[in-house]
Amino acid sequence: MLFGKHVNRFYLKYCLFFLLGVAALVVVDVFQLYIPEYLGEIVDILNEGAIAENMERINDIIVMTVIIAFIMFGGRVIWRLSLFHASTKIEADLRHKMFLKAERLSQTYYHENKVGNIISWFTTDLEAIEEIYGWGSISLVDAIFLSVFVIIKMFLLDWLVTIVALIPIALIFVWGFMVEKFMSMKWENRQKALDEVYDFSQENFTGIRVIKAFVKETQQLHAFAKIAKKNQDVNVDFVRYSVLFDICITIICAVIVCIILGLGGFLVFQTIEGSPLIIGDYKIEFSNGDLITFIGYFDTLVWPVIAFGQIFVMRSRAKASLKRVSRFLDQEEDIKNPDNPVTLKDVKGEIRFNDFTFSYANQKTPALKNISLTIKPGESVGVVGKIGSGKSTLMNALLRLYNIEKGMIYIDGVDMMDADITSLREAIGFVPQDNYLYSDTIEKNIAFANPKMQLSLVEEGAKFADVHSNIVDFPSGYQTITGERGVSLSGGQKQRISIARAFVKKSPIMIMDDSVSAVDIKTEETILDNIKRERKGLTTILIASRVSTVMHLDKIIVMNEGTVEGFDTHENLLKSCPTYKKMVFLQELEKEIGGDDGE
Ligand code: ADP
Repeated sequence: MLFGKHVNRFYLKYCLFFLLGVAALVVVDVFQLYIPEYLGEIVDILNEGAIAENMERINDIIVMTVIIAFIMFGGRVIWRLSLFHASTKIEADLRHKMFLKAERLSQTYYHENKVGNIISWFTTDLEAIEEIYGWGSISLVDAIFLSVFVIIKMFLLDWLVTIVALIPIALIFVWGFMVEKFMSMKWENRQKALDEVYDFSQENFTGIRVIKAFVKETQQLHAFAKIAKKNQDVNVDFVRYSVLFDICITIICAVIVCIILGLGGFLVFQTIEGSPLIIGDYKIEFSNGDLITFIGYFDTLVWPVIAFGQIFVMRSRAKASLKRVSRFLDQEEDIKNPDNPVTLKDVKGEIRFNDFTFSYANQKTPALKNISLTIKPGESVGVVGKIGSGKSTLMNALLRLYNIEKGMIYIDGVDMMDADITSLREAIGFVPQDNYLYSDTIEKNIAFANPKMQLSLVEEGAKFADVHSNIVDFPSGYQTITGERGVSLSGGQKQRISIARAFVKKSPIMIMDDSVSAVDIKTEETILDNIKRERKGLTTILIASRVSTVMHLDKIIVMNEGTVEGFDTHENLLKSCPTYKKMVFLQELEKEIGGDDGE
């Protein structure tokens, strides 16, 4: 069976199902061994031509066979239900645990690991683990109990033929142990190749519009063909060795049957001739019926022997898969609560950056340098600056998506690194730059923070984001499914639904990362008016590429190459901040010559 820190507890958790399944299997195993015995008996009765004298016994055998068939049927239903119940539950429990882990892992982990790999750990690897608990348990129990029962029965019938038949079976065990490591390696190669297929497909489906726009279908097809070929090769390689292993077992079994037939036939002939084989004091008498019974036993023994072989293969797969799953589950969570977290309650919305400097793990130069400023509770603040100047990084830091040094950011006077992460994130309504929407109804997307949210609040959010009239115009209104990543909606509609989703959280701090870039000027004005009215007294931060978007807010942060060049009102910045003045001038100029708004 499979053991490991992440699976051991399942033996206890599902022990009742395992015990019930094993008991049912053992009952079936015991009863099925009566069948060869009855067959042998019938053959001997027929052979002797003594049907009339044994009519009563024949009737008994028929009745017993029917009863045994019913017992076996019932037993099989029970073991299937209980063992497969336990195995699927184990798979589901592990998947649940992995999902929890996935939610706790940081952005950095997802930057460093491909989504395709993670999907394959959640699917094929968990299936391999499920298999060892379902089919694996059945094979193991049958392999042990059935083989022991059969061997005892065979020994009772004739020890010599049994020993001769068992010698080749011992070979299968040795072969199995040798094969296990080898097959485990082959399975790991197979899974790695599958990861690549998942990863490549996922990336291409997501970026299908870019591929089409750049007419790169053929190039991507060739790239996919290469990955698919590699996947095919390792799969063929894996199946080749699996089949080879199965063939070896089948050949060994066929050889044993030949040996039994040869040796058994000889013993039956000697017995009929009246000169049974004598070894020491032991006289071997073997009737036709005995031979039939013996072959029947051996037939029964074939399955457990094959089962042993299967266990080796299944276990090697499951071991390799558990290794990958465990690596994921053991992944250190780099973003975690401090030892004594401070729960943020009744947040007023004061944000203080104190000489805040931040570098991404894989970067040499800091993305943000020596930022010191205080956003007062209830202020509406704009953030402007060139692309790459650090606007998003500054805001992401507030969500604790990355680790920062202590003493650099304070929320309501509490050091962010001392704050409980959940309470911190609860206090912030966030509109991400990519406006990600789930494939669900618009209502559910807006009510993401609280699935039990009243429709009236959802509508309030949509009105705040000026998207209500668009939504009610859709044939299914708020029940419209936004499609995979909301592709059926325009960029502006997605942005506004995303704003509505953050607004309905009614959090003391709201951060909008470039959230009105895809809407027209009139809609932008409506949203800005709504922010002023609806978020009065609540802190709102708006990253924008157009100065016109933020000029009427309480204050504006001007960013340049990771530093803050100015933090003041529009009027004051025009006087004191050359970078801001230049931005305003350039955007005015662009407007005059009819160009796009921008930096
Ligand atoms: P803005 O929002 O102003 O466009 P960002 O905050 O996104 O700027 O980026 C600031 C700097 O940090 C840029 O130089 C960018 O390349 C870098 N950066 C952003 N995200 C990452 C990341 N995940 N890993 C490494 N560098 C990053």
